[in-house]
Amino acid sequence: MPASATSQAQLVEFVAATSSSRSEAEVVGAAAELAATTIDAEVALLLDGEEVLSSTGWAPGADVGPLVRALGTCGSATVDLQDLGPVTALAMPVPSLGPGGQLVVARLDDGFEPAERALVMGMARLLGVSVDAARALEGERDARAEVEATAGERLRLLAALREREMLLTTLLEVQRAISHRRPLEEVLDLVARGTSASLGDVPVALVLQSGPAGDRLGVVASTHPALTATTGDDLVALAARAVTAPGTSSERVGGEVRLAAPVHLQGRALGALLARVAPADVEAAEGLLAAFAAHASIALGDADTAAITRQAFYDQLTRLPNRALLLDRLERALARRDATGRSTALLFVDLDRFKQVNDRYGHAVGDRVLAECAARVEGCLRADDTAARLGGDEFAVLLEDVTSEGHAVEVAERLVHAVSAPLRSLGIELGVGASVGVALAADGAGDAHALLGEADLAMYRAKAEGGGAVVVFHPSMHAERTDRLALEADLARAVDREELVLHYQPVVDLRDGRVLGAEALVRWQHPVRGLLGPDVFVPVAEATGDIAAVGRWVLREACRAAVRWRVTAPSATVAVNVSPRQVADPGFVALVRDALRDARLPPEALVLEITESMLLPGGAPVLQRLEELAHADVSVAVDDFGTGYSSLSSLRRLPVDELKVDRSFVRDMGDREGLAVVRAVLDLARALGLRCVAEGVEHAEEAALLARLGCERAQGYYFSRPLPEGALLEMLAERAAAPRPAPVPVPRQPRRRPARAERRDPAGAPRG
Ligand code: C2E
Ligand code: MG
Ligand code: MG
Repeated sequence: MPASATSQAQLVEFVAATSSSRSEAEVVGAAAELAATTIDAEVALLLDGEEVLSSTGWAPGADVGPLVRALGTCGSATVDLQDLGPVTALAMPVPSLGPGGQLVVARLDDGFEPAERALVMGMARLLGVSVDAARALEGERDARAEVEATAGERLRLLAALREREMLLTTLLEVQRAISHRRPLEEVLDLVARGTSASLGDVPVALVLQSGPAGDRLGVVASTHPALTATTGDDLVALAARAVTAPGTSSERVGGEVRLAAPVHLQGRALGALLARVAPADVEAAEGLLAAFAAHASIALGDADTAAITRQAFYDQLTRLPNRALLLDRLERALARRDATGRSTALLFVDLDRFKQVNDRYGHAVGDRVLAECAARVEGCLRADDTAARLGGDEFAVLLEDVTSEGHAVEVAERLVHAVSAPLRSLGIELGVGASVGVALAADGAGDAHALLGEADLAMYRAKAEGGGAVVVFHPSMHAERTDRLALEADLARAVDREELVLHYQPVVDLRDGRVLGAEALVRWQHPVRGLLGPDVFVPVAEATGDIAAVGRWVLREACRAAVRWRVTAPSATVAVNVSPRQVADPGFVALVRDALRDARLPPEALVLEITESMLLPGGAPVLQRLEELAHADVSVAVDDFGTGYSSLSSLRRLPVDELKVDRSFVRDMGDREGLAVVRAVLDLARALGLRCVAEGVEHAEEAALLARLGCERAQGYYFSRPLPEGALLEMLAERAAAPRPAPVPVPRQPRRRPARAERRDPAGAPRG
């Protein structure tokens, strides 16, 4: 191989070896040995001035000064080295290593040939290239490290973003739960769990004000049960501080920090979201906790609004939609019907006998009956139909998509049946019923209010039929309603216009036919309709509240009239009917006293007729009023006794002086059972020391039988119809002063009502 070819190959090897080094230091460190091997020299040095960068065959620490100086600037010299003796040294510059950079090789023998000198020069140059390359690489590496460092930063950022995304997802989940109106507990639980997950599964609790006055704090949601168990009190104390603090509060307990962010409702802090975190995480956790606390606030505010909405549209007792919601749904249904041509029906449901149940068993039971009836009504419906409570014992049912009137009536009948089933499960004997009015949108007005009005009118008619009935609306019912409204308007002015009159039905002593007194029965001399009986207008007056004025007038007028009769019959009494609403008025006793005083009627001449319902439990103020009247020597009679479900035993304790046996029992005395009832009432009255008056005596046989049973007093058409005052006075003159000797008057026309009385009292028609 020619020398040049050899040199070339040696150079390639040298380059390959040096460039495999990864840094300048490595290149420099390995260069001396490589050069010595390549050129076959005993000594090789890499120098920067007199500094040895690397060496081979050179004693470490030995002074290179003499060699460097001997090589001088020409780059070649024969030098006597201490350890080796005389050597030939050759130096080639390596500028990359600095101004004094050179590669030095030395041989013991006779020196370097020109090709070898070229090889050394080549090596020196390539060494420079390698050093430069290593330096460049190092720069690159640093740059890369820097780039990599930035990328790491980016990665961390990415991770943070991911975390943030997870946080956003969790918050979004909470928001979704809020907007989907998930139950509040569920949302708050989600808030607690979301906070915990976002903070790296730390314990989290949500503490809110509780108790009826909102004055206590309680844990409503927590992620770690142990959290509330072991540190509950501490947490609550921290929450209490958070409630008063403006922002997030924190406290260090041992190796951890407890954080609290306040939760608000309508601008007022009412609790806090709490978390236990590591001290290093406090800063990051604070913001996060505040974000979740804000969501809890939104959820609470929303639940609050939802509760308010519920209150506005649902009946609290039965949980049924109320009138407002019903009308809204009805309007929508009607709008849809316009588009589809299907029919919509509205049922107006009014409970029968609910008032009696409520009076007898009290409001708590009454409420349970209403709730039970609501459930029964709902039970009769399809999912698309709406049952609503309109108020009191009134319900309505909206039937969408009705095929025919018959279909609606069928549902209504099913409903009557369901409501009328016994209520024994509620522990009550007395059942209720339902009267239902049906109105169909197809044949009525298109507007919701109008349809409700029509169903109401039909219900009214069902009630008039005695309850338990289903009546379909008919346009003629409008006329009835107009009629009733007109009657109400007239009635409001009747007292002032002096249109009321009193008729008096004598109360007779069955033993001798003497007239003992009379019951005052009101009539209304209507300017257009003629003389109206109390059955026509007293219920209207009760409903409108005009009964107060009517009752006051009756009481005062009856007292004055009694004073007039007593001129003729000094011991005659007057019985006055009072309605529950009158007695419910706290001024009732004063009213009675004033009427007696103004008329100068002695109190013992007055009998107040009350209904049995007033004696029922729950009427404490009424009873107290009756006691006061009893103390004032006014008598109290229970009217229509036996029809009102009052408990017989309670009578003993009540301030009652007289029982009026209801007309229906007198009428039924022909049966064994009817007779037994009358006997029982008479026995009861005797046992309790009460007077007893039999009402509605129409026949001589009845009078005779009652007398035989020991009943001393009676009233009825057989003796006299209710009479105008003049006629009563006549009768009193005749029978009060001079009692008839016969124990029972002999009827002139048995089994027929007295014609005279019929003429005299056109309004006193028998009650159905
Ligand atoms: P009531 O207190 O039980 O009065 C007796 C009713 O029975 C009267 O009807 C009377 O005319 C009727 N009647 C009397 N004898 C007979 C009879 O032999 N056969 C039949 N079939 N009926 C007889 P009226 O006057 O129509 O009064 C009806 C009800 O109106 C009264 O029943 C009473 O509850 C009420 N009422 C009458 N006046 C007043 C009043 O001034 N205030 C109040 N709150 N209610 C009154
Ligand atoms: Mg009466
Ligand atoms: Mg009566």
